[in-house]
Amino acid sequence: MGRTERDASEGATRDAALKRRSAKRGTMSTVSSAVSETNAPAQGLQGAMPSGPGAVVGGVGSQAGAGDFTGHLFDALPDHVDVYEVGPRDGLQNERTILPLDAKLAMIEGLVDAGIRRIEITSFVNPRWIPALADHMEVATKLRRREGVYYSALVPNLRGLDSASRAGMNEVAIFMAASATHNRKNINKTTAQAFETYAEVCREALDRGMRVRGYVSCVFGCPYEGQVPFENVWQVARGLLDLGVYELSLGDTIGVANPRQVAWVLRKLLAEGVDLSQIAVHFHDTRGTALANVAVALQLGVRTVDSSLGGLGGCPYAPGASGNVATEDVVYMLEGMGVETGIDLDQLPAVSLEVASRLGRELPSKYTKAHVGHCARTGAAV
Ligand SMILES: [Zn+2]
Repeated sequence: MGRTERDASEGATRDAALKRRSAKRGTMSTVSSAVSETNAPAQGLQGAMPSGPGAVVGGVGSQAGAGDFTGHLFDALPDHVDVYEVGPRDGLQNERTILPLDAKLAMIEGLVDAGIRRIEITSFVNPRWIPALADHMEVATKLRRREGVYYSALVPNLRGLDSASRAGMNEVAIFMAASATHNRKNINKTTAQAFETYAEVCREALDRGMRVRGYVSCVFGCPYEGQVPFENVWQVARGLLDLGVYELSLGDTIGVANPRQVAWVLRKLLAEGVDLSQIAVHFHDTRGTALANVAVALQLGVRTVDSSLGGLGGCPYAPGASGNVATEDVVYMLEGMGVETGIDLDQLPAVSLEVASRLGRELPSKYTKAHVGHCARTGAAV
């Protein structure tokens, strides 16, 4: 970042922090204020999801009431947000080119150097399912572990958990769709069967002193079922919490969510008694709404945001589409809003560009593109 660009951005950060502090003095903002507003927009919806593929959003818009956030905008914004990096797993598993081991290790090291403290490094699934992550054992065992960093890996079953445990993982993640059809097609299990498997996985992982994170995918829409009723989301979310997962990552797997829908789902979960500390959001930018969705989740007090370096990845249901929301774009927005991430934004573009060059394609991150353009204009080093 050049000097002028940095000064402007720092000024904006200070302004945002000042404004937020003075706003907080006026209206005391707490978690309960987010919860107490829960019923306002949802009442008129009568259990219907405001969107999903092919849904007519306007149909509920009139009932939801305009300006639900007016007067409350960004009151509940957290001071610090954990950016949970999923690029080495969610991103790379959806890339056509397989990144070699040394490039994966360098990517993870670069992200941790930049300040990432929670990162999913691979997936212990059968290499036949995901050839791009076939080197999971090497990634997990060769990676230098640093103090204060949580390294996680996805595990589909007890066998995966056992490998992850042997590889020294201290955290694993399990995944389940809120849509029954997606579970059947993606993990070849009914929802009940998936719960049986994960009950064993969780028990074993917790016994071994590991933390377990739970992904709920297709929360905001399913490629097979379209709209996913909230009851299905809640059934899976509650089931995973009952198994002992410490956090739910709510995924917009196919990138169809919009901000109003995000607010609606989050408020429903908070109203069910889920604590904000148990919620992470996971948006794909397939249709360009990911950052807007992040902003709304933050406004409701969510403190963990999943993202992927450079916006790595894609969507198996929409070839050519964007992947996860880009880490550097999220960090830029958060820091600009006065929310601390502990991540040095200046260090991210170089790591992102190196991965892009190893993959042989430009990555979607808007921040990195702007950074490259800025450097080209000023002659600064990228
Ligand atoms: Zn994802």
